[in-house]
Amino acid sequence: MPNPRPPPNPPNAVTDLAAALRTVPDFPSPGVQFKDLTPVLADPALFAALLDRLAAPWTGGDVTHVVGVEARGYWFGAALAARLGAGFVPARKPGKLPGPTLREAYALEYGQDALELHAADLPTSARVLVHDDVIATGGTAAAACRLVEAAGATVVGVSFAVEIAFLDGRSALPVGVPVEAAITV
Ligand code: AMP
Repeated sequence: MPNPRPPPNPPNAVTDLAAALRTVPDFPSPGVQFKDLTPVLADPALFAALLDRLAAPWTGGDVTHVVGVEARGYWFGAALAARLGAGFVPARKPGKLPGPTLREAYALEYGQDALELHAADLPTSARVLVHDDVIATGGTAAAACRLVEAAGATVVGVSFAVEIAFLDGRSALPVGVPVEAAITV
């Protein structure tokens, strides 16, 4: 019997992931086009496809730890670490980790925020992939990179599920460190 129709596109097609990404206008504040990845998380095939895309650039490399940024950087960051055979170290908002911690402050549009991590979880020999869900201006990921360097470890790459290209957040990240995004909008 002839093959009735060609197989559907595999779920790792960039278009499927981009189509599942939900853009919510004016959330959480007026003027923000919020990139909502919960539809990708909720769909087993898309979740796996996104992890495939996140892991591909670093597979076979020498990443020993993924540092994920609170809170949405945990959604894919810990799973990504498991895919890479690496450890996972959370970069948390102030006061959430029992310590001792290192802290790195960064500027927001209005005011300041900070990230902390347990330096004891990151050996100085660690080769770290920093991960967050979305890069906008790059300030958050840049702070996470500084935190890793303050711990004496090395940032070998920076990974995002979504890059908002027109904001050019990449330019805020350390020069010469590879940056990869699974979805570019
Ligand atoms: P930035 O420091 O400007 O690169 O902002 C990145 C951080 O803020 C990440 O932790 C994101 O989760 C969050 N973020 C910023 N802009 C957006 C957006 N448009 N949609 C979803 N998350 C965002």
